[in-house]
Amino acid sequence: MKICDLPAYSIADLVRTRQISAVEVLEKTLERVQSVDGRPGEVDASEAQSEEDLNRIHAFTLVTEEHARTKAEKIDQMVKAGEDPGPLAGVPYTAKDIFTVKGIPATAGSKILSNYVAPYTSTVVERMDEVGAVMIGKVNLDEFTYGSSSESSAFKPVPRNPWDTSRVTGGSSGGSAAAVAAGEGAISLGTDTGGSIRHPASFCGVVGLKPTYGRVSRYGLIAFGSSLDCPGPLARNVTDIALALKAIAGQDPRDNTAAMVPVPDYLAELEKDIRGLRIGLSEEFFRVTYFDTNTVELKENPIDEEIHSAILSVAGFLAQLGADIVIDVPLPYTKYGVPTYFVISRVEASSNLLRYDGVKYGYRTEEPFTDLRELYRTTRGEAFGVEPKLRMLMGIYLSAAQFDKGYYQQALKARALIRSDFDTIFDPKGKYRLDALLTPTTPSTAFPIGSVYGDSVIMQYSDQLTATTNHAGIPGLSIPVGFDKEGLPIGAQFLGPDYSEGLLLRLGRAFEKLTENEDWRKERPPLLSDNE
Ligand code: GLN
Repeated sequence: MKICDLPAYSIADLVRTRQISAVEVLEKTLERVQSVDGRPGEVDASEAQSEEDLNRIHAFTLVTEEHARTKAEKIDQMVKAGEDPGPLAGVPYTAKDIFTVKGIPATAGSKILSNYVAPYTSTVVERMDEVGAVMIGKVNLDEFTYGSSSESSAFKPVPRNPWDTSRVTGGSSGGSAAAVAAGEGAISLGTDTGGSIRHPASFCGVVGLKPTYGRVSRYGLIAFGSSLDCPGPLARNVTDIALALKAIAGQDPRDNTAAMVPVPDYLAELEKDIRGLRIGLSEEFFRVTYFDTNTVELKENPIDEEIHSAILSVAGFLAQLGADIVIDVPLPYTKYGVPTYFVISRVEASSNLLRYDGVKYGYRTEEPFTDLRELYRTTRGEAFGVEPKLRMLMGIYLSAAQFDKGYYQQALKARALIRSDFDTIFDPKGKYRLDALLTPTTPSTAFPIGSVYGDSVIMQYSDQLTATTNHAGIPGLSIPVGFDKEGLPIGAQFLGPDYSEGLLLRLGRAFEKLTENEDWRKERPPLLSDNE
């Protein structure tokens, strides 16, 4: 196995014991990026067209080679001096281009921030740094994280799925998931507002964790929906997620919503057995409910059959390990997850986007203007893509004074009911007493690039199985559990009560261990074999 395909924990081990240098790991990883990634995303560049372009991943918007080399050299010096650089010593990782890093561009995949260089570093990146990890670059995403395919980025070409480059990566942390799947860094930092870590993790066959709201600081994260946003890690295995979470979680005086709850030793919890844990299955998570825009009626569609049976077989594996599977768990408000998300996230997005005005920072129009309003209008008109514009219009409309009680207040009530659904099933004295819920992560596997983009309503329904987690503030872990007939990864999701990350990781790890010798585990993205 190549160095860049090793787990983060092995890389750190090799570096700390001087069997390999951090610089060597970095060089090998940069070689991988060079061979599989192709052109990095750029504003106003062309979409992938040539044979070469179509067959590359395009996860990056920026490779921060110098920054990485300086850091890797520092790690090697520490090791040489007998100091311990930390549990992620020399581990290359990427950050979704929604996190700030001092002196490095932070674009949010938008033209409006295309010239913005961050004057400060986000807490999560700072903490990865403190444990010895080496940031190798910024990766592409849906513009301002608005989307489920990473196609809405203003930075072209958009990322392509390593398992089939004609397919989307999922989103919005698509660059993160694709990079990790292709060995371009062992870990990536993403964000999840309605599913944006778990969704692309599922589409690209990697592990992704959305922590409990407040478990990880949002300081230095360019905001989408401030009451929903959660930074979290993506990696190729559960142990690496535990290591990364341990590094980034915890209180932060710079973010008042970062919880004062102590951070447990996730690694110590990982290998415990799962005997006697109560794991629920809910019919509500095996279908998608949507409003038919023609008939204006609520309709239901089952999720992909192959995904359904894959999840049932995960339940079978867990039962083999002694878990109790509880079926028919009711979560009746799940079907309102997406409409509720639609209202709350748009209102919060429109408020958060007000700051981009061409005056304080970011892009400013080159057109002449006669007054401030015209400057705002032209700048924002030129530099926001379709998705932010749509979301702003919806957000402003939905929060208009005359609709206050009609939409936003209503959505807040629905949000409370969604939370109460989860409170009921996880209540240790209640009827269900679940430790976790097992669900599919997405209703389908990765769809072809261009096939759904442009219909933001359909795109939104691919979040139905993930968005309620964000409303409730609870954690969710997506793990790869196999492939469909077309060779596309299938993801399963574990949801649990507040701060149950350790338990979710334990479940993920138990499944990983039990299936480690299965044939599907040996699959590698075809692109990797072609290019090496
Ligand atoms: N796909 C969802 C949206 O478009 C979720 C995005 C996210 O989690 N950032 O809003």
